[in-house]
Amino acid sequence: MQRTIRILDIPVASLTMKETVDCALKFSINSENKTRTIMTPNAEIVMIAQKDKELKEALLSADLLIPDGSGLVWASKRLGKSFPERVAGIDLMSSLLGEAAQRGYTVYFLGAKEKVVREAKKKAEEKWPGLVISGFHHGYFSFEDSEKVVESIHAAAPDILFVGMGAPRQEKWIAMNQSKLHVPLVMGVGGSFDVISDKSMRAPIWMQKIGMEWFFRLIKEPKRIKRMAALPLFVLKIWGMSTTKHGGKKDIG
Ligand code: UDP
Repeated sequence: MQRTIRILDIPVASLTMKETVDCALKFSINSENKTRTIMTPNAEIVMIAQKDKELKEALLSADLLIPDGSGLVWASKRLGKSFPERVAGIDLMSSLLGEAAQRGYTVYFLGAKEKVVREAKKKAEEKWPGLVISGFHHGYFSFEDSEKVVESIHAAAPDILFVGMGAPRQEKWIAMNQSKLHVPLVMGVGGSFDVISDKSMRAPIWMQKIGMEWFFRLIKEPKRIKRMAALPLFVLKIWGMSTTKHGGKKDIG
């Protein structure tokens, strides 16, 4: 059982990056012949899940939820529990790609535009010599074509499947297909293929360190403002819970 901190009913793992990598590697060994899933909520996703039941169920079905955004780290501090650190999905994915290259695990990339995911495959193979990407597929398929995508994953038989189709599409797709995939580890990775392919840039390290990566992404992709509109409400809700807690009335779990 992992340590978790519940942020608005979503139990997010309270682990260091190293502990998270170890946990993911255990999942990928697949001793129980089960598909394990990792999802990467941030404050926006937690807020969408307050209204979107299917997303909430998908998140709750995951074997490991990691605190991908600095908003969740802030919330954990307000709630008096504190994650040891932010565990960004792209960093976990990078570590797993490095481990896969060393251990001879094969991986599959699902998501992003065809050109982007193809380029991400090329760049990843250059960056992690020995990495075997046994298959890839873009993330713009219809519901009817989903079965064909699952068949393509079966044919590639990867040890780890990375799904980068944005939230909430990727979480719902993973939850819906988990039992048919026959892949030891499946991880949702948001826009990571865009970063690996160099289509989009990550914020400079100093911005990541001070918890401002979200701001960098907003400047680069102003249309994200719509999704971020729920963030003030997130802050208010957490603030309200933490003051209630300090008044000694409510457990924040
Ligand atoms: N995407 C996709 N299929 C879709 C919609 C989006 O594969 O139907 C991809 C998109 O090309 C991009 C990623 O999903 O690579 C979304 O990235 P974003 O950073 O928005 O992810 P989020 O912040 O939602 O996790």
